[in-house]
Amino acid sequence: MMATQAHKKYVSQFAMMGTVISLTLFDHKPALVERVYDYLQTMTEIFSANDDDSTLGQINRNAGVAPVAVDATTFAFIQRALAATKKYHDSFNVLIGPLVKLWKIGFGGQTVPAKSAIATSLSRMNPDDVVLDETAHTVFLTQRGMQLDLGAIAKGYFADQVKARLQAAGVTSGIVDLGGNVQTWGMNPLAADDQWRIGIQNPNDTRGNALLNVVTPAQSFVTSGIRERYFKRDGRTYHHILDPQTGYPVRNDLLQVTVITENSELAEVLSTVSFFKGPQAGQTLIERLPDVEAVFVRRNGAVELTSGLVPQTKGVYQIVRRK
Ligand code: ADP
Ligand code: MG
Repeated sequence: MMATQAHKKYVSQFAMMGTVISLTLFDHKPALVERVYDYLQTMTEIFSANDDDSTLGQINRNAGVAPVAVDATTFAFIQRALAATKKYHDSFNVLIGPLVKLWKIGFGGQTVPAKSAIATSLSRMNPDDVVLDETAHTVFLTQRGMQLDLGAIAKGYFADQVKARLQAAGVTSGIVDLGGNVQTWGMNPLAADDQWRIGIQNPNDTRGNALLNVVTPAQSFVTSGIRERYFKRDGRTYHHILDPQTGYPVRNDLLQVTVITENSELAEVLSTVSFFKGPQAGQTLIERLPDVEAVFVRRNGAVELTSGLVPQTKGVYQIVRRK
């Protein structure tokens, strides 16, 4: 192998989805960058929860009324999101829309809702009330007031799609960062050991300041945390990860969970589920899954890592895969 091959890094940034999206490639491919931009733009049009004309908006507007046909890829994604909801129903639930709209956390005008309104929302979140037609590719929320909200998982799906599309176009390695959701693929052409080095955000510091760094073959890093979207009322803090059992923001000892695994969509689900489980049960869950690692940050700042993250130098951990 040629060790001296020089590589440049081409970083493109787009302001989208309420965040800054960044794409890193190691060859100059402006046409592919445009394609990624257009793809993500189309995705925001399909999945916008606040636009009645988006595909998601149509599904929600037709709750209790009629099935809505969607394209095959979107259908498969919604099907997986609902399967994850059934599997982890006490924590991860993509039918959380009525609660999200009620609390409005992070969108201004937020209030603590009345108990009766919370109870009404909770009654509209049953995944058994969704009918999916695999032949017609239709999604039907059968009860009025139901609302699909894919906010906890959509970026993982987009990240996996961007990776797959670029790989299909012959791009052998890259990084896509959808604002805190990082997907890498291939080998890092800028590192002698081919590995990636990804920083995990310190929840007690400003954006971009790492708590620790992870050296790893290609993986996706997904963080769920309560430090970016919340409001305070009467001395209490209410954040945006809502408990589908109680209807209130989940209360536990955690500030943040980062899940590291190849599939970004899975990492999204597991980061929400682990957040609910807390540092102990969360670690137990992750340890049982092959090729998944996690970093938990408690409210007091204490950091806990799963066993595949092995200390290398100060503040740097190496992922060692159990074969
Ligand atoms: P972020 O990337 O915004 O930090 P997450 O990936 O943790 O957040 O997803 C949070 C978003 O998912 C919320 O803004 C809301 O739209 C939705 N959501 C909130 N609670 C849940 C839940 N228990 N299950 C599924 N989705 C949720
Ligand atoms: Mg998530």
